[in-house]
Amino acid sequence: MKAEILKLLKDSDGYLSGQQLCDRFQVSRTAVWKVMEQLKKEGYEIEAVRNKGYRLIGSCASLSGTEIESSIKSEWAGRRVVYFEETDSTNLRAKEAGEKGEAHGSLYVADCQISGKGRRGRSWESPSGTSIYMTLLLRPKILPGKAPQMTLLMALAVADGIREVTGLSTQIKWPNDIILNGKKICGILTEMSAEIDYINYVVVGVGINCNQETFPEELREKATSLKLESGQEIQRAAVIAAVMESFEKYYQIFEKTEDLSGFLDEYNELLVNREREVLVLEPGQEYEAYALGINSSGELIVKTADGQRREIFAGEVSVRGVYGYV
Ligand code: ATP
Repeated sequence: MKAEILKLLKDSDGYLSGQQLCDRFQVSRTAVWKVMEQLKKEGYEIEAVRNKGYRLIGSCASLSGTEIESSIKSEWAGRRVVYFEETDSTNLRAKEAGEKGEAHGSLYVADCQISGKGRRGRSWESPSGTSIYMTLLLRPKILPGKAPQMTLLMALAVADGIREVTGLSTQIKWPNDIILNGKKICGILTEMSAEIDYINYVVVGVGINCNQETFPEELREKATSLKLESGQEIQRAAVIAAVMESFEKYYQIFEKTEDLSGFLDEYNELLVNREREVLVLEPGQEYEAYALGINSSGELIVKTADGQRREIFAGEVSVRGVYGYV
């Protein structure tokens, strides 16, 4: 009820009558008053006026399950939020939930990760109070070989969500990073549990650097945050909600064709590697090529120095610029 009342307060232009809230949630006026007091303690500035009701006038609330749930506008993506002040990794929490049979669209969010993960056992720098660490649990009815496409779908959703909330235009470094002004703002890690021809679940983990003002020495050249680039404090819950809404939109399009053909142009527009020389880092080999764009399966189409056209599967490959990170 707390998240729902907060959502009503956020969506309302004027005052929300106490009686209407009582009728809607079938609770007493005291119960409504108690919720308002709790919200005030959490940092929401709520004005109460006799005969008019309640009105949200400001907020300095930090990220919380209530804050996220009250911001979510999507139908199923992030409708159920499980929030942790601190956890080892949101991908681990989502995989655990996947094993337990939790629903498609459940979202696991943490304020801080003790062992945030990147691909191939790398780590993701996850300090508290500044960033978004979230993992979406999915149960797609597609063949396991198509699961990496979820990474590309999420990348588009993140780029959209960031643009909507901050106005910043980001680019995608295929397959799993979002780039802002040449530096990494977000990484995506997709993992799955599957049989040969059946997916049990897929988890799509997303780390978005929001309000960091500095990075550890080893990341300074490569990483940035939305605040560093825009000069503005970022409302993390608003970004989470916008990304979920956008993911849901792309997922619905994906479900029709079970590939990326419905938004290929949109993706290629944002692709930082497009029409550029790239260094392809495959397990066991490394070569230079010219990147053309992605195909509808999410593979990166490149032309090698001897004129051969190759389609690279997103699984374990990294792509760099020939002279630097992008
Ligand atoms: P790369 O970005 O090097 O091409 P990758 O996409 O496989 O490789 P990820 O698995 O997405 O990399 O992320 C892990 C890497 O990202 C780490 O090795 C580190 O270099 C970098 N990194 C770790 N934490 C952050 C962060 N908070 N912001 C930006 N980059 C980070």
